[in-house]
Amino acid sequence: MSNLMEVINQLYSTHSATREELKELILCNDKKVLDYLKKLAVKVRESVYGKDIYLRGLIEFTNYCKNDCYYCGIRKSNKNAIRYRLTKEEILDCCKEGYELGFRTFVLQGGEDSYYSCEKICDIVRSIKSSYPDCAVTLSIGEKERSEYQAYFDAGADRYLLRHETADETHYKKLHPPKMSLAHRKQCLYHLKEIGYQVGCGFMVGSPYQTVDHLVSDLLFIKELEPEMVGIGPFISHKDTPFANCENGTEELTVKLLSIIRLLLPNCLLPATTALGTIDPFGREHGIEAGGNVLMPNLSPTAVRKKYMLYDNKICTGDESAQCRQCTELRMEKIGYQVVTDRGDFKRS
Ligand code: SF4
Repeated sequence: MSNLMEVINQLYSTHSATREELKELILCNDKKVLDYLKKLAVKVRESVYGKDIYLRGLIEFTNYCKNDCYYCGIRKSNKNAIRYRLTKEEILDCCKEGYELGFRTFVLQGGEDSYYSCEKICDIVRSIKSSYPDCAVTLSIGEKERSEYQAYFDAGADRYLLRHETADETHYKKLHPPKMSLAHRKQCLYHLKEIGYQVGCGFMVGSPYQTVDHLVSDLLFIKELEPEMVGIGPFISHKDTPFANCENGTEELTVKLLSIIRLLLPNCLLPATTALGTIDPFGREHGIEAGGNVLMPNLSPTAVRKKYMLYDNKICTGDESAQCRQCTELRMEKIGYQVVTDRGDFKRS
């Protein structure tokens, strides 16, 4: 155990650890060690971001997708999914409501839907940026050509989220159809970095076939990429997918990994995700108390929320945006943190 305490101290001071050390830490169930890990993660988080919680207003604007990822509820083959697309006007209405509620970042998230051509996305981004010049726009719309990423960026997009899902090639193949590749996904992430986006990668915790070695590879890949954001959440099965009967990931392991990521990348923006709040009623609080500093309440119109079901039992699908905003604020106050009206950019030290 003392060895693991040293590993945590070393992570705290050098932000690095070996493959073996990370593996041991992931496997550790000793409460004292895990409490210490959490304590240092929170210390680092507070030294960079204080007690502030940044909000991202999530606008799920299309649930059409050309891909068929085996874990995803809106995969192309799911004939039970009721498909929808939001118009530019509907998206702008979400932003208007969000702005009034204090959001200064809008995340446009959707499946890989070719209906939204490069021009359409650029037009939407430009419209948001001209109406709300003090806000950041984040895109989360999958794998694209470098030239498209560049065009979105030139139109004003600030950030891009593209979870790598798993950094292990063999594992990647077990989660995705043959035409998708980890190499291409990584290539996209490097293109986004080169262009100048604040980039977010991430993975599911406890996804089918995942091993501890895979998780270590995820951590080492994140360290190598040095993204500005890291989104992780427990795997939660969806009834209409090939993984319907697979076991869900756990809150415990997700929270532990959040703390490790905070120590590896002290300045990163680290959300306590909706999936974490779905697996445990206080999952988001626990995520923040383990070193997280971002929450992503839903700004999508209530009428479509239930249709954007990436996994079963997703929380907050019946609430109005104002309710989500208020609930988030109260939950954070209760644990001693404050939601701020701020773009919440990555802080370089
Ligand atoms: S995970 Fe993303 S790319 Fe894969 S099917 Fe779902 S929405 Fe499409």
